Amino acid sequence: MAASDSKTLLKSDAVYKYILETSVYPREHECMRELRLLTAQHPWSIMASSPDETQFIGMLLKILNARNTLEIGVFTGYSLLATALALPSDGKIIAVDKNREYYEIGSPIIEKAGMTHKVDFREGSALAILNELVAEEKNEGNFDFAFIDADKVNYLNYHERVLKLLRIGGIIAYDNTLWSGFVVASPDEPLSEKDRELAHATREFNKAIAADPRVEVSHLSIADGLTLCRRIA
Ligand code: SAM
Ligand code: CA
Repeated sequence: MAASDSKTLLKSDAVYKYILETSVYPREHECMRELRLLTAQHPWSIMASSPDETQFIGMLLKILNARNTLEIGVFTGYSLLATALALPSDGKIIAVDKNREYYEIGSPIIEKAGMTHKVDFREGSALAILNELVAEEKNEGNFDFAFIDADKVNYLNYHERVLKLLRIGGIIAYDNTLWSGFVVASPDEPLSEKDRELAHATREFNKAIAADPRVEVSHLSIADGLTLCRRIA
């Protein structure tokens, strides 16, 4: 595996390959494997979560006894399928993406896995859909878990809304919170404009979350950085 293909910030690609081959691939659900391989053919395949990360999220959902979840940023549905597989049969995921055509790539595999009944896909702007959810009183504190993986510049806007929807003790998982390690890039490092902007937004987000008394925080170096926020107030 070339370093540039690997979805990890781990220093050794050999160690990462070892984790995947020892503990992840042998236990991977066959539909997760099918969706992973299908997604790998997409020009934007880099957007999909890594298999060790989705394995972790699945276990976290089970530890939490999660039933009602939110996913902001679906792409082909790889992390969505991992979530659906980890929820009980009456579990529900409100899954939001502005591009339905991405979701349609994976939805036949989600169907094949017998998970379609758990997925409530909503096409549109995440901010608009979260505002609609917040406006409905019955949604307040009704969610056990949220996976946030859409446009990084809006993470703090999503945070304010999702906190209203999450129960005390529920978890929000924010993805890509190390932004390829560029969060520590020096000002003279030759980054693209987009990476510079996103590294800045991610640093601002990380700073704000670390100071937020409403949540406990665990900033994991799995994949491209995953920040868990447990609502405590
Ligand atoms: N969670 C997916 C996974 O792990 O396989 C990957 C999601 S991908 C990184 C980000 C997705 O967010 C894209 O499919 C994109 O269309 C969607 N997106 C970006 N900005 C958005 C917005 N403002 N509202 C809704 N969806 C958005
Ligand atoms: Ca991601």
